[in-house]
Amino acid sequence: MTANLTRRKLCQSAGAALVMLPIIAICTEASAKTNSSLREKLKYQSQPKGGMSCAACLEYLPGSSDQSVGGCKVIPDDDEILAQAYCVAFNTM
Ligand code: SF4
Repeated sequence: MTANLTRRKLCQSAGAALVMLPIIAICTEASAKTNSSLREKLKYQSQPKGGMSCAACLEYLPGSSDQSVGGCKVIPDDDEILAQAYCVAFNTM
């Protein structure tokens, strides 16, 4: 009897967790921000220019891993900066 109750509770918890996954995904997406107007002013592009990319720029704020997006000190309110991107504010000094 106790084992059945425990299994039932476990299944209910797993079901609740599965229901929450899409909600968590939506909330995560909603928190991603881009600063479109400043990107446009700085001619932000998602590809490097020559050997210049955000990963080599002193303004870049890397994400949690090499593959994840990061931020930029020059473009506030934007956490979708690609490491391989480039803009005219590229800075190595
Ligand atoms: S200043 Fe430009 S090149 Fe440098 S990290 Fe920011 S977006 Fe990338």
